[in-house]
Amino acid sequence: MRRLLIVSNRLPVSVEKRGGEIHFSESAGGLATGLRSFYRSYDCTWIGWPGITSEKLNKSDRECIEAKLKSEYHCRPVYLTKNDFDNYYLEFCNKTIWPLCHYFPEYVVYEKNSWEAYERINTRFCSAVLDSISSNDDITWVHDFHLMLVPDLLRAKRPDAMIGFFLHIPFPSFEVFRSLPWRKEILQGLLGADVIGFHTYNYARHFLSCVHRLLGYDHDLGQIFIHGRTIKVDVFPMGIDYEQFSSAAQKPEVKKEIIKFRRETADRKVILSIDRLDYTKGIPQRLKAFDAFLGKHPEYKGKITLLLVAVPSRMQVHQYQNLKESVDELIGNINGNHGTIGWVPIWYLYRSIPFHTLAALYNIADIAMVTPLRDGMNLIAKEYIASKTDRKGVLILSEMAGAAKELGEAIVVNPYDHDSIVFALEKAFAISEEDQIAHNTEMQERLKRYDVRRWAEEFIGRLIQTKTLSNQMKDKLLDAESRRKLIRKYKESMTRLLLLDYDGTLVPFYPSPELASPDNEILEILKNLTANRKNKVVIISGRDKDTLETWFRGYNLGLIAEHGAWIKGSDWELIEPLSSDWKKNIRPILELYQDRTPGSLVEEKEFSLVWHYRSADQELGLIRAREIIDDLVDLTANLSLEILEGHKVVEVKNTGINKGRAGLRLTQKKDWDYILSIGDDWTDEDLFQVLPDEACSIRVGFAPTNAKYRLQSYLEVRALLSQLISEDSKSST
Ligand code: UDP
Repeated sequence: MRRLLIVSNRLPVSVEKRGGEIHFSESAGGLATGLRSFYRSYDCTWIGWPGITSEKLNKSDRECIEAKLKSEYHCRPVYLTKNDFDNYYLEFCNKTIWPLCHYFPEYVVYEKNSWEAYERINTRFCSAVLDSISSNDDITWVHDFHLMLVPDLLRAKRPDAMIGFFLHIPFPSFEVFRSLPWRKEILQGLLGADVIGFHTYNYARHFLSCVHRLLGYDHDLGQIFIHGRTIKVDVFPMGIDYEQFSSAAQKPEVKKEIIKFRRETADRKVILSIDRLDYTKGIPQRLKAFDAFLGKHPEYKGKITLLLVAVPSRMQVHQYQNLKESVDELIGNINGNHGTIGWVPIWYLYRSIPFHTLAALYNIADIAMVTPLRDGMNLIAKEYIASKTDRKGVLILSEMAGAAKELGEAIVVNPYDHDSIVFALEKAFAISEEDQIAHNTEMQERLKRYDVRRWAEEFIGRLIQTKTLSNQMKDKLLDAESRRKLIRKYKESMTRLLLLDYDGTLVPFYPSPELASPDNEILEILKNLTANRKNKVVIISGRDKDTLETWFRGYNLGLIAEHGAWIKGSDWELIEPLSSDWKKNIRPILELYQDRTPGSLVEEKEFSLVWHYRSADQELGLIRAREIIDDLVDLTANLSLEILEGHKVVEVKNTGINKGRAGLRLTQKKDWDYILSIGDDWTDEDLFQVLPDEACSIRVGFAPTNAKYRLQSYLEVRALLSQLISEDSKSST
């Protein structure tokens, strides 16, 4: 059985010291409740803070805690002092990251001290993980915004470890995230993971956009290739322990609570509101809408009860204290203004409630109002639906909660739109039982299928799959042994054909194509390579023939231009007769896209047209590339044209022209005893495929490939070519 290390700020067990005695209790909270049912069935250790500051503990307390956490709960504690807790947790986590990610920039505190504490505590968590990892097959799953530096810290010490990260809160848009002074460090920290998971596509999209804009890393369908690793950014909407909630009403203690509440609420309709008392939850807005509803509909007075549970949270942070005061005041005003003798509109509980009470409240509530201003997921909404055994009940749900993506049958509202919440309440009271049952059945089925176990399994499955893919990519890396072989064969051969792609292979990419002219180093390499009469060196490129001619005039190189349309012997010749009449029809379309996409440009070659978007906004560029392809698909089919998608380019050219075809002409021309082909793009794959078995093919970069080997960048290509040259000079001396 694989080992699984779960790492989160809090352990699922809380430790307290009362009267000199150590007490343990299983803690509440989204992640703890969610994963408890999952992690016990693995060979699992949970690493986190046990909820007590270390000054309160002596040596024997620690021993007792560690022993019991290990044997009974499979947990390993990370200790925090009061000072750590204040600076790392209260300050950086709660006053910087939390408001930033929930779009409350006005609450964000930028404090260097607390950032340093965050770095320090993340390092401490990392050390605890390192002490627990025993093999690269162990899975480390790091959770949430408290520990965003841990993946990269861990990666630095264990380059081959399997590391996943899941963010339980929203990831904000670039425009918000960019204000964080430590934005790059946070992104870099997360990129240490193999899989980075988010609740919704929007959060993943924002993250990818920040990575691209701030660190310059592109992605391909959520995959980022960095330093020989594949990182997958993906969406896993967290589920709940469905069974626990759907079966709760059968438990005797829950039944008892249900009967009690029913007696107390009599025949009044119950509206339920449960949240941690947090400014992201939209409690004042909800109360104001309820106030307005009662004002607009006095006929409901005496017939409804709003049951408001506010779970105390982060009271050391002053915004939370202010919130508590305003909620208390609002409730007082509403009860004072609308209440009558014998009827109180809002029943207010300011405390945490045990599971059986929670389950009973879900069960009896006719309406649940879950209207956070921002929420990563919101489990209350899902738990409410799962608890409805008779499938009656109405959920009013904020569109700003991650859960809204999965619970579309609820009445979805904008929590800032006061009138829309009032209207949602009116609608909720009017909705027929038949419709309630139909909507809730749909939602229940979805929640049942994708429960917390499935969520965790999918995440772990994706992590293993990504790691395998990453390893496969690494398998092809040109290691010392294969390099020796490659060089030995080179030395032994008398007729050698070297087929070299240009952009991305011999030189790096630049914002616009004309900037990528060959530098002195690569020109020197090519000069030396071609100096050996055994070598035939051919640049096989997508570039137009005039550019290649200008750059390499005077060099003893073979040249193939426009992906194989042109080949240069003594003079340029076309591989086959081609027409370029089609360009006048296609060019205006590409120009339209150029005008609509700032930073993009159209390049015209003799037999192809290229739309480049390397310097355009990455996301817009990708969307436009899809649109262009969509627009061109019918047209090009009629004109015998094909569309190529390369590195930040869409190219339209005559069908049947490709590097493979051009390469074949060369390979068949002579009986070469050594063929080496290097390229970085999928257009080079055409060539790799037609080479004879004994040829050596090398793909630059980390995309899937048919090449035999892989090098990481153009720098490594230059180093390899230089090595060949030095072998030549050795054998000539
Ligand atoms: N919850 C709890 N005790 C309470 C009230 C709620 O344990 O008194 C649980 C509830 O069952 C849910 C979680 O707290 O699983 C709240 O998760 P949610 O995603 O809604 O909000 P968060 O508090 O994580 O922001």
